[in-house]
Amino acid sequence: MATPIITDGTMDKLVKAPRVVLPSGAGLFKERATRCEALAANSDTGAYLRFLSHVCRGQSKAYGARQALPVSERAIANSREHGMPPLSAHVFPRDPQWRSDLRDILESVESVSSSGNTQLSSVISAIRSTLDTDPTGLEAIADRLIAGLSEPQDGPMVPFVGAALQVYFTRLAATLSPDDVGACDVATVCPCCGMRPTASLVRIDPDRNNYRYLICALCMTEWNMERVKCTSCEEEKGVGYLTLEAEGASTADAAVRAETCDECKTYLKIFVQEKDPQVDPIVDDLNSLALDMLVDEKGYARTGPNLLFYPGHE
Ligand SMILES: [Zn+2]
Ligand SMILES: [Zn+2]
Repeated sequence: MATPIITDGTMDKLVKAPRVVLPSGAGLFKERATRCEALAANSDTGAYLRFLSHVCRGQSKAYGARQALPVSERAIANSREHGMPPLSAHVFPRDPQWRSDLRDILESVESVSSSGNTQLSSVISAIRSTLDTDPTGLEAIADRLIAGLSEPQDGPMVPFVGAALQVYFTRLAATLSPDDVGACDVATVCPCCGMRPTASLVRIDPDRNNYRYLICALCMTEWNMERVKCTSCEEEKGVGYLTLEAEGASTADAAVRAETCDECKTYLKIFVQEKDPQVDPIVDDLNSLALDMLVDEKGYARTGPNLLFYPGHE
């Protein structure tokens, strides 16, 4: 596919890479599950990674089980003309379809989990019960997750609710064309749904080799941002990199780094495909929580969520 040449307004220079790359479909979740399984084979948190692989397989199955509903013409027009994210997650009128996605994910995880995992069984039962008896309460959990305001009692349900919302919004995003997604005034949120990115990824694809893309936490849209620039305050002067690599290894050799900013004291991880072509911004993020702890100890606050993450859940 030909790549359009677009003007980067901040630097007034030509950038030959797509500005926005919309998600490709169910294959994305399947590949993520495969990545989880590969990581689990060589990890001391193998059980957790296998659980994640089951969630991602459930996402793949749910994705293929139903069609996206049409996105309103008005939302697309507002995006094209005014840069308003067409799927603005904080106000988007979610169809109950996402709750069917959630049921599929629960069923999929349950079918492959060991019957002795009583903790997991009780979480699945609790979500099913909420689906059946209190859909409004479940919508409120989803609203809080999207707003970044989850409450302690939401905790164990969060990875499942997050997984279902990812399926629902990714399916919608995949029906759009890049032309439907206008340039958002705020470069640090997803131009398609307005959520923060989970991480950024330096690509090796031929049409965007060596370009950095932010990966939406919710709809899996990717959008281009220059490298060595804070993904929160967009300053360049205070940007640094931290890794967990063994002593003597160079930061530049690491596939997983924390990009820190001394201007706003925040960080987000950056993954480098050239160092590991299979790296996945969502699951490799969850496989590198020790790096979050290190960076947190140094006083940097993380800016983007991972919707499959629940502290303490294993
Ligand atoms: Zn998004
Ligand atoms: Zn910053």
